[in-house]
Amino acid sequence: MSDLSCPLCGAEKFERIHGHVKHSNSSSIEQCVACGLIFQYPFMPAEKEKEFYEKQFPEYMKKRGAASETNPEEHFNTNKKEASRRLEYIKNYLTPESEVLELGSSTGFFIHEIGSFVKTVCGVEPGEQYADYANGRGIETHASLSDIKGRKFDIIFSFYVFEHLRNPIEFLNALKSNVKKGGKIIFEVPNVEDILVSFYKTPEILDFYWQLAHYFYYSAKTLKTAFEKCGYKVIDVKHSQRYDISNHIHWLKDKKPGGMGRYIDIFGDKLNEAYKANLIEKGLSDTITIFAQL
Ligand SMILES: [Zn+2]
Repeated sequence: MSDLSCPLCGAEKFERIHGHVKHSNSSSIEQCVACGLIFQYPFMPAEKEKEFYEKQFPEYMKKRGAASETNPEEHFNTNKKEASRRLEYIKNYLTPESEVLELGSSTGFFIHEIGSFVKTVCGVEPGEQYADYANGRGIETHASLSDIKGRKFDIIFSFYVFEHLRNPIEFLNALKSNVKKGGKIIFEVPNVEDILVSFYKTPEILDFYWQLAHYFYYSAKTLKTAFEKCGYKVIDVKHSQRYDISNHIHWLKDKKPGGMGRYIDIFGDKLNEAYKANLIEKGLSDTITIFAQL
């Protein structure tokens, strides 16, 4: 790691916080001693990464137990609930004049959901199968950002994409050419201060959490720093909690993912809501969303 400097602050001192990354033979998880940025090192080789996202990603997500479907039609339908969750907290930003772009739009389930609130929607999705499906439904979807070079948008969304990027700073700088003056960027990523990893941190949780596809693991602080470094004005970083108390109890009791909703008969909705609200208040939630402006 002697040739490595932190992409956020330039420091060259790192501390190893986890020695192994699942599905990788050689990677570990490191943290910059100066600014706290956490990242995987080394990343997947570029060629392997290309094939991974073009061909293997839906299968990989399914193996991790996500509700992600390999069949595009099922994926679109399974994610309707997720689309409504997102719409709920972003709808104040949408206007009938908004031209909207989503990076990593998969089957287009989110931009389809917001279509009636805005002027135009457009997606970028490298997965061939998902992109073909979206286009087939009339949702304009391109394989890469270079296909819409120079086209500017009022709002650019992405959900669980930014943590996959190997050059986040370069990416945010380049993205400016697609943002109108005063335009907004709304990116949602996992929060590395998630109570599962920062407090419970059982061997099973850590083995699952540090993963091949995630190169960077952001906190509210490091995410904000990344955007500010690239000249964006950060309006807000919002915490939210997607997984419920049952999921967490399942991790502790049976040492596995996939416990969502499982023990709701025992713990009840009231306790679940209070638990989630507490995680959000303490900054220990599983998800953070940055609202930034150019
Ligand atoms: Zn740093």
